Amino acid sequence: MEIENQYHGLSTPLANGLHQEGRRLTPQRKKVLDLFTTIGSGIHLSAEEVHAQLVQSKARVSLATIYRTLRLLVQMGFLNELELSEGGHRFELLSHENPDHHHLICIRCGRTEEFESNQVVQAGRLASEKLGFKLIESTLNVRAICPECS
Ligand SMILES: [Zn+2]
Ligand SMILES: [Zn+2]
Repeated sequence: MEIENQYHGLSTPLANGLHQEGRRLTPQRKKVLDLFTTIGSGIHLSAEEVHAQLVQSKARVSLATIYRTLRLLVQMGFLNELELSEGGHRFELLSHENPDHHHLICIRCGRTEEFESNQVVQAGRLASEKLGFKLIESTLNVRAICPECS
């Protein structure tokens, strides 16, 4: 599977994901992925939030399993992982609708807002062209403090 494919829509990784390197989309993994598919792109959830949602829907699953499952779904190209500065992580659906979107992240409460910037995308394109790299994505994560926390 070409790495590039991971960033273009769900259909390719979903189809490939079933047998990719022996990693299968087990019912539990599918359940986690379904949660993200249902809420749609642009929503950024922590592992704790994913866990709480699944427990609410009567799934018996530990937080540790959720962590492992989320990591795996990132590796398989279904989810995008955002690192917050205080050790927190958020996960979102990798969507072909807006592959190159950027994040404004509050380092205190984790509030995450998306924004678009052609300049960032353009800067990534220019830098990779200059150095002969094959561009996959250009994203910018901005760490900041939201109005409520400042
Ligand atoms: Zn996002
Ligand atoms: Zn905040």
